[in-house]
This record gives sequence, structure tokens and C-alpha cells, in this order.
Amino acid sequence: MAEPHNPPPQRSESREIAELRRLKQEQPDLGSAVDLQIELLQLQRRVQTRVSLPSIRLDRDYLNEQLTKPPVLRFEHLPLDWGDVRFVLRSTASAMRTHDAIDSDDFRRVDALCRNGARLPVVVKSWYEAAGNPAANIHADGAGLEPVLLQAMRPFLTKAAEAIMAKTDLAGWTKGTCPLCGGEPDFAVITPAAERILICGRCSARWRFHQLTCPFCMNADRTRMTSFASRDGQYRIHACDVCQRYLKAYDARHASRPVMPTVDGVATLPLDAAAMQRGYK
Ligand SMILES: [Zn+2]
Ligand SMILES: [Zn+2]
Repeated sequence: MAEPHNPPPQRSESREIAELRRLKQEQPDLGSAVDLQIELLQLQRRVQTRVSLPSIRLDRDYLNEQLTKPPVLRFEHLPLDWGDVRFVLRSTASAMRTHDAIDSDDFRRVDALCRNGARLPVVVKSWYEAAGNPAANIHADGAGLEPVLLQAMRPFLTKAAEAIMAKTDLAGWTKGTCPLCGGEPDFAVITPAAERILICGRCSARWRFHQLTCPFCMNADRTRMTSFASRDGQYRIHACDVCQRYLKAYDARHASRPVMPTVDGVATLPLDAAAMQRGYK
């Protein structure tokens, strides 16, 4: 796609980017991760302004009824302009390569994929549909490129999820995976009412989930869940001693701002290291 001219400034963008810059000042060790995140955010916002609404009926009763046969958002509902997809995929890979977040082999594989007009839609569709479906696999040409695809597809998925979430609060959903796209949560927020809201790592949809159940394996045995806070008390980790996986949460009970997954994901990189040191993944 052509470089868009002067995209309209977005409040949430400037606020997230301001928080990221502040984070870099406070924790210079996170500098490269912050710079990458800012580049990705700017790129995603620019593309997102061009994405149209998903081709799904945006009506509350219809959407709530779809919760009985998830995922609500099918690949066919995504209004993908393949020129835009190629642009954002290439730019994402290039930013990630600059910050050493992918190796040169994977960078070349993304480039080859973008040149193959017939293969690209097949790979992207297989990536989308592999989430939450143990019987489905990502196409071999996309295997290993999931982190790039996740970032590149974000403008399309988040736009669709925002449109759906404006119509339904997904209150009927009690599972650990995303009702909209089938993805896994990659962050959570603890509300002032001490409820835990999970946030999808792909489309950013949010849904309420039991405070002490593992969303990955549904283990609900409290004696086999470990929870610990960051030193400043701003973040918590809920780790599962059955599947060994963990989820980070922003504790909004004493917070000065709302959760910002893109910012909080980078701010909690040291917490990831602590969780991994304890043997969680
Ligand atoms: Zn999702
Ligand atoms: Zn578990």
C-alpha cells in the first residue's frame, strides 16, 4: 500500500507512546524493546485507520448467540486487503530484524512469503485458524513466523474485535481462550472489584475469567497455583503448577492509569525472567 499521508493523531497512541518513552527513561535496559514496541505501534495505528469493519452482523443478540459456537470472528469475516497485509508484514519483519527480535533466516522467509501472492493468504488463514484448535496446524511456510504474523495481523484483528466488543460484553463466556479469535490471553488486568479480566494476545478482546483458575489448562486447585507480585506491587503473576504456564496481570486496584497491554508487556519483561527462573513458561 502507499504510504498514508499524515494519519490523524490518536489519543490512545500518544498516551501509550508517552508511557513507553517514560519506561525507557526509568529502565534503560528495556530501551531496545521499547523502541521496537513504539515502531510497531506507530505502524499498526497507521494501517488500522485504513481497515474497514468486519463482515459480521454487529448486533448484540446475534453476537451473543455466536458465543455458543466459537470462534465468533471467522477468518472470512476479516476485511483483508492483501496489499496492506504485505506492507505491514514486511514492515513488521524489518522492524523486528533491526531490533534483533527475529533472525535473518526468518526475515528472508517473510520476504519470500510476501512475494508469493498465492501462498500468503493460505499461510495467514492457517495461522489464524490454528489458534485454539489442536487439530489444525499453521502451514509449513509460516511455521516459526508466528511472532511476526501476530504483530502484523494485529491492526486487522483489533479493529474487528473493537467493533464486536462495542456490541457485547462477552459475559456468557467462561473459557480461557478468546471467544472472538480463539487466541490465548497474554495479559490480564485485576479490576478494583478484584475481578480478573483476560486480554487476548491476538485481537485484544477482553473477557472476565475466574481469579484463581489457570486459563491454559483450567486447573482450579488453589494449592497448585502460585501467585506473586512485582516489587512495586503494580503487576502480579499467576502461575500454574500443573501445566507450568503463567499469566501476567496489571493490578488496577491502586493504579494511576488503565492497563495498556503494549506498554505493560514490555514493562514486565523482568517479571518474565523471574517466572522462567522458577521453571514456568
Ligand atoms: Zn482474540
Ligand atoms: Zn495450567
